[in-house]
Amino acid sequence: MAILTEAQVLDALRGVTDPDQGKDIVALGMISGLVVKGGNVGFSIEVDPKRGPALEPLRQAAERAVDALAGVTSVTAVLTAHRPAPTLSGNRPQGQGHSHDHGGHGHSHGAPAAKPAPAGKAGVPGVGAIIAVASGKGGVGKSTTSVNLALALAANGQRVGLLDADIYGPSMPRMMGIAGKPESPDGKVLKPMEKYGIKVMSMGFLVAEDTPMIWRGPMVMSAIQQMLRDVAWGELDVLVVDMPPGTGDAQLTMAQNVPLAGAVIVSTPQDIALLDARKGLNMFRRVDVPVLGIIENMSYFCCPNCGHRSDIFSHGGARAEADKLGVDFLGEMPLDIIIRETSDGGTPIVVEKPDSEHAKVYRGIAATVWQKISSGGSRRTAPSITID
Ligand code: ADP
Repeated sequence: MAILTEAQVLDALRGVTDPDQGKDIVALGMISGLVVKGGNVGFSIEVDPKRGPALEPLRQAAERAVDALAGVTSVTAVLTAHRPAPTLSGNRPQGQGHSHDHGGHGHSHGAPAAKPAPAGKAGVPGVGAIIAVASGKGGVGKSTTSVNLALALAANGQRVGLLDADIYGPSMPRMMGIAGKPESPDGKVLKPMEKYGIKVMSMGFLVAEDTPMIWRGPMVMSAIQQMLRDVAWGELDVLVVDMPPGTGDAQLTMAQNVPLAGAVIVSTPQDIALLDARKGLNMFRRVDVPVLGIIENMSYFCCPNCGHRSDIFSHGGARAEADKLGVDFLGEMPLDIIIRETSDGGTPIVVEKPDSEHAKVYRGIAATVWQKISSGGSRRTAPSITID
């Protein structure tokens, strides 16, 4: 069966005309957050909030147009209130004044280098600092690093929560070895799951792992806001957020709306050479979130048989790049089967082998991160970089 592409979906949407403007909705730039996963398609149609309710027929027409394509199994189109970019004078457009708005976040698409919106920026009561663990692309070990960093912070004595915001592929139920669903004694807030002394929340607890999910930017944000604010985290020193991979709209919106004390970038040596990690770095800088540093994962290879070390990915690239980019290098983790086995088996290495070299490295990184967020001493005067 032919693979459905974004281009085909956009072509189909070109056949849908906005009745008021007389042009097709693609040409008018109204389509955003297009996701095609197998036969499942999701996108939003950005509209002026005043026109919202009247455009339901347009939304349905867009869904029908895509649904008619071969290979489509589901289509979800949503109307999103278009939010004008904030003006330099500091005037905020309407609709940003709600601190608990789960559904109505304007999509920030196209707002250049916007300052963090105050709307969702309110801190989470009881939570000292929120840090993001991010990567320029998937598969670099971001979730493995998040979970071990969270457990290492706890091993160092901090009260820790772990929020799996990687809602496209939640991995915390597996990596933390947690089964079951969170309870909600009062029907309003969820109790986070707990294991190895930390509190954990993941979309994976609420939705079966094999359920295909389509998320568009604003939906991602509202799911994450709910996992931040409608969960009884209690008193925490630090909440580690495992971000969705990449540096697209959803990530940018998150970086803007979650009150982050800082971000840690996970990169493989090749990834930093290919600019992906730099994009991540730049994204946080654009929204004024301090980058706490870079961790090089899969830095070199440890042979499980003889212990021989080989630098298969030209190890050390991240340290040199970090220096060039003006961010701290937090540490390096080898490509070692024990890390994969422990994290995929639900007993991350920091708890499974607390005396191992790897666990010590994670604890060292955790100590540096904690020192930075508790002293507010991250380097923020780095040279600015521009990457397309
Ligand atoms: P991401 O969150 O970036 O998509 P994951 O943390 O899920 O990546 O890691 C992808 C795979 O690589 C997992 O199977 C994980 O166990 C494995 N992995 C991650 N880091 C290492 C490492 N340093 N050594 C060996 N395997 C690793």
